[in-house]
Amino acid sequence: QDCFNRPIASSPGANIQVLERVSDDGNKTMKLLGTLNDLEDDHQRNQYANGSAFVEVSEGRVARSCLNLGSYNYLGFADDWNITCKKDVLGSLQDLPVSNSSSRNEFGTTKLHRDVEEIVARFLGKEDALVLNMGFNTNSTTIPALMGRGDLLISDELNHTSIVNGARASGAAIRIFRHNDTQHLEEILREAIVMGRPRTRRTWNKIMVVVEGIYSMEGEYCDLSNVVQVCKKYGAYIYLDEAHSIGAMGPTGRGCAEYCGVDSADIDVMMGTFTKSFGGMGGYIAGSKDTISFLRRQCAGSAYHNSLSPVVCQQILSSFKVIMGEDGSNIGKKKIQALRDNSNYFRMKLKDMGLHVLGHYDSPIMPVMLYNPTKIAAFSRECFKRGLSVVVVGFPAVPILQSRARFCISAGHTRDQLDKALAEIDEVADVLKLRYEISTFG
Ligand code: PMP
Repeated sequence: QDCFNRPIASSPGANIQVLERVSDDGNKTMKLLGTLNDLEDDHQRNQYANGSAFVEVSEGRVARSCLNLGSYNYLGFADDWNITCKKDVLGSLQDLPVSNSSSRNEFGTTKLHRDVEEIVARFLGKEDALVLNMGFNTNSTTIPALMGRGDLLISDELNHTSIVNGARASGAAIRIFRHNDTQHLEEILREAIVMGRPRTRRTWNKIMVVVEGIYSMEGEYCDLSNVVQVCKKYGAYIYLDEAHSIGAMGPTGRGCAEYCGVDSADIDVMMGTFTKSFGGMGGYIAGSKDTISFLRRQCAGSAYHNSLSPVVCQQILSSFKVIMGEDGSNIGKKKIQALRDNSNYFRMKLKDMGLHVLGHYDSPIMPVMLYNPTKIAAFSRECFKRGLSVVVVGFPAVPILQSRARFCISAGHTRDQLDKALAEIDEVADVLKLRYEISTFG
């Protein structure tokens, strides 16, 4: 499936309205927003996070506190009130505004923005970094600054919508390679070099390959060392989105490159977000001094979007210090280890139950296949009844018969919480007949 032709995903699994308007002549009905979903209209649900270990979930008139198995709070910083918030973030509110009401290039840059950029660059072993107010904007505004007409952008078929938006907006030619298939990537690169641009046959101005560290709908990490090898062979740049892998992968949390044993010098543009492992918001781009100073001036996220809240910068800085051990404790190290242990434990237990679990060991994202879209709402409801809050994913975020539930594990989960959740999921698996038929596999 070509992600550049697929419909843009809206909130997966959510109810999507079909808006219709009758035109002036009273006859024609114009569909403003037509879409599939939801299989059960009455399955209206509200979720209020109160911290992130638990969420208040209400369905109809019933409300209960559920164990949160769906947030990207990988290292638990989103609710480590004592570690980051109480000490530093609350303190920063004494001196700093919540918003600078200005873009980075106008009056939106504080010392804290520069401090975050310095620590990102140092963490990743890059010369410099740029911090923007959203991860989504970071992809969708830097890719068009880096790429344009006469360039070729080669993208993994499962790349995130923000990458798809950035690629489309750039005006570069786009080719898609099969998910994590570096042989296919190489075929596309070879053809691009041999054939050049369509019609004129002139050589491409530049070629950039865009991949993610962990693919969020699959729970798989990128085959990065092979991507690097192939790109080196053909002189292509690499853009790596580490939204889900920064902080969450590698022995010291430095992401997919560290995990795969790839030198960060071999990745030209390293992108990531602070929404997940850092319990904050915003995104970064790290790279060479020249690349970053070009982006500082040229990318729309820097020139036209309000800058990241200084208070959020403080949350990010404090989380980084813990991860890097610069707070003088070994809490960061323990968190990284706890995330790995919790994730591998939960994945192993789900597999032992005979569920079809996607993704790799060491990844904190665990999609469990439901396949049949009618099971989406049922799975969510059965979990809700048992005090679990789980993200369920259907079309258009994934193909219609590849519906799934997606568990995200955190260092903040206790083993006891995970064991209780697993016992409940075991029951749900019976109710919804989710297990493999053992006989089918001999
Ligand atoms: N890239 C990827 C791979 C993502 O999964 C996401 C969001 N989950 C983003 C970028 C956008 O990040 P943010 O939510 O921080 O804006």
